Amino acid sequence: MKVPVVERIMRANDVLADEVRQTLRENGIVALNIMGAPGSGKTSLIEQTIARLGETTVAVIEGDIATTLDADRLSKLGVQVVQINTGGSCHLDAGMVKMALAQMKLSTLDLLFIENVGNLVCPAEFDIGEYKKVLVSSVPEGHDKVQKYPLMFRLVDAVVLNKTDLMQHVDFDLGVFRSSLTDINSRAPLFEVSCKTADNLDSWVAWVRSQVTS
Ligand code: MG
Ligand code: ZN
Repeated sequence: MKVPVVERIMRANDVLADEVRQTLRENGIVALNIMGAPGSGKTSLIEQTIARLGETTVAVIEGDIATTLDADRLSKLGVQVVQINTGGSCHLDAGMVKMALAQMKLSTLDLLFIENVGNLVCPAEFDIGEYKKVLVSSVPEGHDKVQKYPLMFRLVDAVVLNKTDLMQHVDFDLGVFRSSLTDINSRAPLFEVSCKTADNLDSWVAWVRSQVTS
C-alpha cells in the first residue's frame, strides 16, 4: 500500500515544479538547484559566485531545516534572500519553492540560486522547477562519494569539487573521484575549486554566466 502514496506525492510535486518552471520562464530567470552534503560549501560557493557575477541580478532561496544563519550571511551581499525553514524536512520540494517565489520581486532577476538542504540523498529525487542541478562535493568528504551516492551524481548537470586547498592534508584520490564521475555521469562538467583561496572559481563562474546568457 505504500507505493501508491509515494507516487501520489511525487506526482503532486511534479505539477508544482512545472508551475515553478513556468513562473521562472515567464520572468526570464535561470534557477540553479545547489545540492550537497552539510559543510560542503554550498553557501560559500554562492557567496563567492555572487561576488564575481558583476551585472547579473541575483537572488537566493535558502533551504534550511531550522536556522537563518546562511540567509543572514547572504543578505549581507545586498541581494534578495528568502529563507525556507523546512521544519525538519531533509529536502526542498516544489511547493516550498513556489511559496518562496511568491514573496520575491521576480521581474528584475536574471539568476536564482536555490540552496537545498544539506543532504546527499533525497534532494536529488525532488524536481523543484530548477533549470539545472548542481552538486557541491568537497575534498574532506572523500573521493568515494561518487560511488556511494550514485543517484545524486548521476542526475546533476554540473559538479563542483570544493576545498581543493585541503587536498594535501587528507587522503583524497583525485584520479578516483574524476574517473568515477566520468563513469556515472559523463555530461556533467567538473569544477575543482577552493572557495577559501578562490582557486579556479573563474571557470565555474563562467559556466554559471553561460547558463544565464544561453
Ligand atoms: Mg549552507
Ligand atoms: Zn528528504
